[in-house]
Amino acid sequence: MNNKLFVMSAASGAGKTTLKDKVIAEFPDIVYSISATTRKPREGEVNGVHYFFKTKEEFEQLIKENGLIEWNEVHGNYYGTPKFFVEDMLKQGKRVLFDLDVFGKVNFDKVYPEATGILILPPSEEELERRLRGRGTDPEDVIQLRLANAKKEMEFAKSKGKYEYTIVNDDLEKAADELRAILKK
Ligand code: ADP
Ligand code: 5GP
Repeated sequence: MNNKLFVMSAASGAGKTTLKDKVIAEFPDIVYSISATTRKPREGEVNGVHYFFKTKEEFEQLIKENGLIEWNEVHGNYYGTPKFFVEDMLKQGKRVLFDLDVFGKVNFDKVYPEATGILILPPSEEELERRLRGRGTDPEDVIQLRLANAKKEMEFAKSKGKYEYTIVNDDLEKAADELRAILKK
């Protein structure tokens, strides 16, 4: 485990984007790794800021060119970590924070086994469902798919995942404090 690479994983809706956005500005030496995805942008999402939005063909080309550290199909879309950005940032002496699904994290570990894993859990399944609906970004069928996947993902993470830290995101301030403590040098 080192303090250069941090990987956050969570079921969709557990709050990892909220947590990350709350604390990352306090760590100027930490950059967030922007993933490539074939998912369509949500309202307010900007290409090159939240994700690199790609067509299926563009994404498959990236895979072919060996341009991704890892990739996976999550909730019906491709998501992957571009290689160039991480290598560049590490050369510049930056630390990097990733948001990866629990299965993608396993492949990531094959390249960077020393990365620190942080699993973010919702306080309950009911609250996870409330948050996914409350976020208001996804249609009902997508919410159902994400809830069904959440159970599989969390079972996998707890039994086979490599996470040095677990944060239960119940009270946001408390969870943010726990994340700050992990990211501190
Ligand atoms: P993720 O990135 O894990 O999919 P988000 O960060 O988008 O999840 O959070 C999902 C929803 O839950 C958002 O509407 C967010 O405002 C809300 N949320 C996040 N953390 C908390 C919390 N601790 N308490 C209540 N609501 C939260
Ligand atoms: P969302 O569509 O809600 O932004 O993200 C859905 C899921 O994709 C989340 O579980 C998130 O962790 C995962 N994800 C985002 N980027 C990547 C990536 O680069 N690689 C992998 N494996 N998963 C990712």
